[in-house]
Amino acid sequence: MSELLPWQQTQWQLLQASRAQNRLPHALLLTGPQGLGKEIFARLFAQSLLCESPDNNTLPCGECRYCQLYQAGNHPDISLVMPLEGKKAISVDQIRQLGQFVILKSQYSGYKVVIISPAETMNINASNSLLKTLEEPSAETLLLLVTHQPAQLPATIRSRCQEIRFGSADAVAGREWLVQQLPNNADIDLLLAQADNAPLKALQLAQEGALEQRQTLLADLEQLSTRKFDPVTLAARCNKVGLILSLNSLYSWTVDMIRLKSTGQQAPHTANPDLHDRLLKLANQVSLTGLFQLQDRIRQALQEHERNLNPALIMESVLIQWQNTFCAKNRKIA
Ligand SMILES: [Zn+2]
Repeated sequence: MSELLPWQQTQWQLLQASRAQNRLPHALLLTGPQGLGKEIFARLFAQSLLCESPDNNTLPCGECRYCQLYQAGNHPDISLVMPLEGKKAISVDQIRQLGQFVILKSQYSGYKVVIISPAETMNINASNSLLKTLEEPSAETLLLLVTHQPAQLPATIRSRCQEIRFGSADAVAGREWLVQQLPNNADIDLLLAQADNAPLKALQLAQEGALEQRQTLLADLEQLSTRKFDPVTLAARCNKVGLILSLNSLYSWTVDMIRLKSTGQQAPHTANPDLHDRLLKLANQVSLTGLFQLQDRIRQALQEHERNLNPALIMESVLIQWQNTFCAKNRKIA
């Protein structure tokens, strides 16, 4: 995908104006929720800096020798830094190699661009190493750091970057774009609701078959509540589907149950309108306190996953708490 996404116009024009005035900073921090295409934007902006003849809107032409080199992944003046295959973190070695790239002159006498994504995955040594590069910027080198969790980056790095913020996508533009990507999909609005209105996240959910999987998962959880199913078997099934996908569904349902329960059935903004009746039925079986405790446990599980704890154990412990929350002998109608 190498297009300017329709909800990114403001950020694009801002940066192109800085560029036209030769006022681009040495480092940009692209922040905002996941699923808005920040990395796609960073790549397109990089290509526009390398392109020989960008069009009127400053979009890369896609045809010049530099665009062709870029598209083939062979342009020597761009460096993409991301976690290596099978790794979760960007290592200090990767950032040290960047130090070399930054001091060398551009091969084509233009810009050199570095994209670090997701920037929050740099470990502490990698961050320290990057700081040296940021403290001694070299001319015509632009660093683009992409992150949805800027608070996880050291303040010393954040303060040396200009932040470009991507807020939520324009709802109409985001929906239109998703309809173009999924012309035969009848669940556009549900996908967007599930994805917090982030269009690329919604597209990914559709490609993963997330809506179908969550129907099955909820049916299994209803069985779990009546003890017709056991947490260990279900945990294995969840991990097959994907731990994050399963935990995110559980989290989203718990939040909706809290909303349904605390607003007396009239919850205007639930993320799962299609499951309203089933979630309300579950919510009515338990106390609000139980639901809040469950929400905390799922949030904690998502953090445990980031710390690389055993996925099977994480899922089992969440499901055991789910079962205990909903099982008949613990029910408290509040
Ligand atoms: Zn070009």
